[in-house]
Amino acid sequence: MNRKNLIAGNWKMNKTASEAVDLVKEISSMVGGQSTVQVCVCPPFTSLAKVSELVEQNEIMLGAQNMSEKSAGAFTGEISAEMLRDLYVSFVILGHSERRQLFGESNSTINAKVLTAVNNNLKPIYCIGETLEEREQGRILEIVGSQVREGLDSFPIRSVEHLVIAYEPVWAIGTGKTATNEMAQEVHSEIRNILVELFGQTPASSIRILYGGSMKPENAAGLLAQPDVDGGLIGGASLTSRSFCGIVKSALELS
Ligand code: PEP
Repeated sequence: MNRKNLIAGNWKMNKTASEAVDLVKEISSMVGGQSTVQVCVCPPFTSLAKVSELVEQNEIMLGAQNMSEKSAGAFTGEISAEMLRDLYVSFVILGHSERRQLFGESNSTINAKVLTAVNNNLKPIYCIGETLEEREQGRILEIVGSQVREGLDSFPIRSVEHLVIAYEPVWAIGTGKTATNEMAQEVHSEIRNILVELFGQTPASSIRILYGGSMKPENAAGLLAQPDVDGGLIGGASLTSRSFCGIVKSALELS
């Protein structure tokens, strides 16, 4: 199956609204006028409204970095799926390792969020990945397997084409250490095997599996050339147009 590459920028807790507007304008002018590679920016909640006005006009998609599993009510500080849809948000990052490690999110909390997202027409970018300790203990498949099975429990098969997985080995996030092309492909293909078990061959082959973890223009081409790597979730390198668009251009060259 021909899966369109998705390059998504996770800005984390960076950029004020006016800085976000400037960055998105730069990204739009560099890679906005094409539809071969899907480009998505995920700014902080405080910038979504302003960025939303900008991206409406071009091919850049908008994503959020988190979301509540609840639909509305007394949940101080939370943001609902409906609020995100109202701002034309298309994607939502869920289960990022920082949410798991720093904010105590478990596979089951994240599963509730994934189901809320998809039931509200948001495309989840569901993040999974092992720590260095788990890798050294030879437990990659056990960890990633339970993250996939538990995090996607009851995921509706009719919506599988809207699901995006991001494999982000925790030891590679923000550290400058990247999985080799072969390491990434090996885990991505195992993840796809689990998706085949869960959803069947054809639906599983429509799911995009992104790689995340210190991806940058210098290493993007090799990673993106792997058959089961369908794009990237980019942290640090998404904060400047030069490096982010450098990765998008690598994806365009391969498409
Ligand atoms: C991330 O946090 O999703 C990420 C991939 O970060 P970085 O690119 O900085 O490693």
